[in-house]
Amino acid sequence: AVFSAKAYDRTYFDKVSSTRFADLCTIDYHTFSLSEETAPLAHSCDAVCVFVNDTLDEPVLRALHAGGVRAILLRCAGFNHVDLLTAETLGLFVANVPAYSPEAVAEFAVTLVQTLNRKTHRAYNRVRESNFNIEGLLGMTLHGKTVGIVGVGRIGLAAAKIFRGFGCRILAYDPYAGPEFTSELGTLVELDTLLQESHVVSLHCPLTEGTRHLMNGTTLARMKPGAMLVNTSRGGLIDTAAVIEALKTHQLGGVALDVYEAESELFYNDHSGEIIEDDVLMRLLTFPNVLICGHQGFFTREALTEIATVTLSNLSDFVGG
Ligand code: NAD
Repeated sequence: AVFSAKAYDRTYFDKVSSTRFADLCTIDYHTFSLSEETAPLAHSCDAVCVFVNDTLDEPVLRALHAGGVRAILLRCAGFNHVDLLTAETLGLFVANVPAYSPEAVAEFAVTLVQTLNRKTHRAYNRVRESNFNIEGLLGMTLHGKTVGIVGVGRIGLAAAKIFRGFGCRILAYDPYAGPEFTSELGTLVELDTLLQESHVVSLHCPLTEGTRHLMNGTTLARMKPGAMLVNTSRGGLIDTAAVIEALKTHQLGGVALDVYEAESELFYNDHSGEIIEDDVLMRLLTFPNVLICGHQGFFTREALTEIATVTLSNLSDFVGG
C-alpha cells in the first residue's frame, strides 16, 4: 500500500515496476496519508510505502503490524518521523532512499537565490500585463559575493560547487564536515563568521533538536544587513516569526523558502483551490522580497525515477530476505 500517493508517484512506480519488478508485487495507491484511521487500508498488504508527512508512531506501527504488514518503505531520505525503536521491537523491515538527487535540490536552491536576487518572478508577472518596466527589479551580480552554506553534506556540497561556478567565495559551517569539502571549494568557519560575512545564506543541514530554529532573532541579527536567506532543507530550521521581524527592519534583504514551518498541514494536503488560512504565511507573502514554493526541490524526473527504483529495490531486498 502506497500512502500519500500523488499522480506522479503512480507514474514513476508503474514505469519502474513494469520494467524491473513486474512479478514482484501489486501496488495499492492511496491519496490519504498514513494515520491510525487510515492504517486499516494496508491490512491485506505485506509492505507500506510512505512519505515524510505520514505518521509512523507507535500506535500506527502496532496497527500495521497487527494487520500483517512486515515492511516500511520510505520514499524519502529522512526517517525522523519513524519510531524506529517500536519498528525494531516489532521486527519490521525499514528502508529509506538515502540520496535520490542531491543535485536536484542544490540546483533548486541556486535557482531560488537567483530568482529572488534578479526578481525574475516579478518580471514574469509584469510582462504578462504588457509592462516591460524594470524599475524595482535591480539585483546584484553574484560573482565575487560570499555565499554561506550551512551543512556541507550531499546537497550542501553540490550547492557549494554550483555557487563556486558563479565565482562566489564559499564559507561553510558544518561541525561534522567530511573531507569532500576541500579548501579549493571554500573555507570552514564558525556559524557567526558565516553569518557576518555572507551575502547569501543557504541552509542544508538536517532538522534535529539542536538545529530547530537555528535561524532565530539572534542569528538573523548577526547576518550582513540586507543579505538573503534560502531554505531548501526543513521548515523548522527557521523561526518564521523572527524572519518577518527581520524583513520589516530590512535586516534581511530577501527570503526564499522551499520548505515552511507549518508545511505538513498546508502543502501535503491536496487543497484543490481551497483558500489556505495561515496567518504567518499570509504575512510573509505581503513582502515582495519573499519567494515561497511548496517543497519542490526534489521534484525532477531523474529524482522521481531514483526514488521509485531504490524503493522497489528495497522491496526486493525485503522479499528476498
Ligand atoms: P546529508 O546528511 O548528506 O547532509 C547534512 C549535513 O548537515 C551533514 O554534512 C551534517 O554534518 C551537517 N550537519 C548536521 N548538523 C549540523 C549543524 N548543527 N549545523 C550545520 N551542519 C550540520 O543530507 P542531504 O542529503 O544533504 O540533505 C540535507 C537536507 O535537505 C535534509 O536534511 C533534508 O531535510 C533536505 N532535503 C530537502 C529536499 C527538498 O525537496 N527541498 C529534498 C531532499 C532533502
